[in-house]
Amino acid sequence: MSPWGLLGHERAVRAFQGAHRAGRLGHAYLITGVPGCGRRTFAARMAQALRCAQSERPCLTCRLCRAVDPDAPFWQAAVRRDHPDEVDDPRPPRDRRDAGYVHTAYLDVHVLRRRDGFRDIPIRGIRELAAETYLKPAHGTARVAIIDAAEELSIPAANALLKTLEEPAPHAVIILIAQQSTGVLPTLRSRCHHIALAPVPAALISAHLVGEGGLDPETAEAIAAAARGRAGWAIGMARDVSRWREFADRQATAEAFERATPPERFMAVDELLGRGRPLEQAERAYGWLGHISRAQASELRAAMRAAAGDAPTESRAALRSVVARMLRARAAQVNIQHNVTPKLVFEDLALRPAADG
Ligand SMILES: [Zn+2]
Repeated sequence: MSPWGLLGHERAVRAFQGAHRAGRLGHAYLITGVPGCGRRTFAARMAQALRCAQSERPCLTCRLCRAVDPDAPFWQAAVRRDHPDEVDDPRPPRDRRDAGYVHTAYLDVHVLRRRDGFRDIPIRGIRELAAETYLKPAHGTARVAIIDAAEELSIPAANALLKTLEEPAPHAVIILIAQQSTGVLPTLRSRCHHIALAPVPAALISAHLVGEGGLDPETAEAIAAAARGRAGWAIGMARDVSRWREFADRQATAEAFERATPPERFMAVDELLGRGRPLEQAERAYGWLGHISRAQASELRAAMRAAAGDAPTESRAALRSVVARMLRARAAQVNIQHNVTPKLVFEDLALRPAADG
């Protein structure tokens, strides 16, 4: 555990603490990393450290610290509630043309995010947030504004935010959370201190699940391997082992689907999608494509390792095959977002041989 009770990210915590003690903090930060690696918890800890009045900041026990605790009701309501798999922050299968946002504020901490089911964070949301950051803090010395999934800002919203970053209120700190820095406009990026959180090593996650979670080593190792650096995801799975078993089963089915012949894959489609209304099927299809993408990603890593050697013809062919299937799965995802019938999308995915790609 790092000094902030985070799994991993010790260097990032120490760097922030050093700058804080030296009085060298900026007005804007961009936290990047894979979803589930601890970006939101890191932002919460920053808000606590910036506002805590105790000498040991954050004390985690005072009123201002407790307000932004990752388990506090405010925080739970404010940040994006992830997709059950916490794979990424998926856009909804059916993009709505209009835009919506959720702005939650408590004791001078503000969180802005896209409203579920909407396409992006509109300029209205940024205007509202920006206006509030200029108000003097009523509790403590700083006002903290967090933008959860900043890559979802509309272009006008991003430009409005840029104006706020160019003339920040002296007491305000704005924290952007994103998966990758390239998801954020370069003009915004250049005005932020960048905190890049690395994926948490599997060994660290696994040891934590055994030590703190009381999990058996075998399950802990399996969850840590599937987590691919996302400690938050792993901890969530460890808390609800039945959810983990379901996830592992689905993953095994997706891997079998990837290895199967086209006729076998075709036969499996009905079983994968099940019955139900088109929207339910679309959501299920989206979930399955996530599992299939994960299966492909681990296959890709293995194929790249094999091809990096003396690159025999068959390992290069394996590499081409998995890349072609990845492109096809990505196209399937886009088709489902564009309301193509999930059954058609999956049958196409099942039948066309990968070599076409
Ligand atoms: Zn405190």
